[in-house]
Amino acid sequence: MQLNKGENLWETVLQQLDETAKRINLESWIHKKLRKSKRELTVSIPVKMDNGSVEVFTGYRVQHNITRGPAKGGIRYSPEVTLDEIKALAMLMTWKCAVVNIPYGGAKGGVACNPFKMSAEELERLTRRYTSEILPVIGPEKDIPAPDISTDSQTMAWIMDTYSIDKGYSVPGVVTGKPIAIGGSEGRSEATGRGVVYTLLNTLKHLNLIEGKKVIVQGYGKVGSVAANLLFKEGYRIIGVGEIDGAVYNADGLDIGRLNKHRKKSGSIVKFKEADSITNKELLQLKCDILIPAALENQITKDNASRIKAKIVVEAANGPTTPKADKILKEKGVFVVPDILANAGGVIVSYFEWVQGLQSYFWSEREVNLKLRDIITKAFYKVLEISLKKKTSMREAAYSLAVNKVAEATRIRGLYP
Ligand code: GLU
Repeated sequence: MQLNKGENLWETVLQQLDETAKRINLESWIHKKLRKSKRELTVSIPVKMDNGSVEVFTGYRVQHNITRGPAKGGIRYSPEVTLDEIKALAMLMTWKCAVVNIPYGGAKGGVACNPFKMSAEELERLTRRYTSEILPVIGPEKDIPAPDISTDSQTMAWIMDTYSIDKGYSVPGVVTGKPIAIGGSEGRSEATGRGVVYTLLNTLKHLNLIEGKKVIVQGYGKVGSVAANLLFKEGYRIIGVGEIDGAVYNADGLDIGRLNKHRKKSGSIVKFKEADSITNKELLQLKCDILIPAALENQITKDNASRIKAKIVVEAANGPTTPKADKILKEKGVFVVPDILANAGGVIVSYFEWVQGLQSYFWSEREVNLKLRDIITKAFYKVLEISLKKKTSMREAAYSLAVNKVAEATRIRGLYP
């Protein structure tokens, strides 16, 4: 899918940075520096396929900024991956780590491939070769990858193993989101979804909304499914859920437990008997209180924003709302919790995993969850305070906070990093 001009995420994040620079009176030398990635690496990944042929994939690793600490960010596998997308997502990671005040810069990686059409063996060969190609720029003190779309703890294990083979000893700190058996953290796989729920609870408290708990979740992967399951357990009515191949809707609320069973059996949420089948487009426009986009970027656009009926949008995905849509939502009075705050739970627990690994001292899941709640709640109220004081949206406030933090570190350190 080619994105239209104006829907290019790189243009979006640049526009957001430019507007923030103006708002906070950012020095032009810092602004100019932040408009560029520190390093963009493009690699070819030749892979022997199961049928004996060779495919050459293209992969990227982009480090946007390392002024506040090592670069940090996930790796995604998707046919839509482009350098511009990865550059944008790397910049968003810089802001995300700054908003929640964890000592990292921002990075992102990706390989343009279709993981759904590849066997586990092909994916392993692809991952190991991609790792060899980006090996000079990653490392526990340099740049620490993690899972993102269509990558998981097994992918991280292959990266960690390939990196360790090169070094001649085990280096668990080179990635986060690892399996527990090789140094992963309790609570990491659920962390992004859990963080989304914590920010939503803070939002409801702030808006004094006790009634009205009808929720729509677009995306039922690592983030959306966790958020839906946690909210269902809390008594929220999940009236609609969408996935790549379609969406399901039940005005009385879906039984998420039974939906999970159906998905496990059939491989998809569609054709769930206790719900109506609808399109993802219809899903976003349903009447609900809370909308959680947890899929890809550019889902809420100028074409559908005016038809969004939710009072609250919690951005579990990265970049789901285009700037034009954002303006429309603002005019409609929708409370939008921006991606760099709402979905920061994943990288927060990645940070915990890295810290636990460095100390070789591991925490209980309860401890991880409590610390996650603490950090993301602190960040939420800091952003809220700025938004109320400066009369800006939560996104503008989060950007002001993040860019100011990176700018402060840049002033202290200077041009070099
Ligand atoms: N891919 C996740 C994100 O976009 C997690 C990144 C990480 O843990 O480094 O925030």
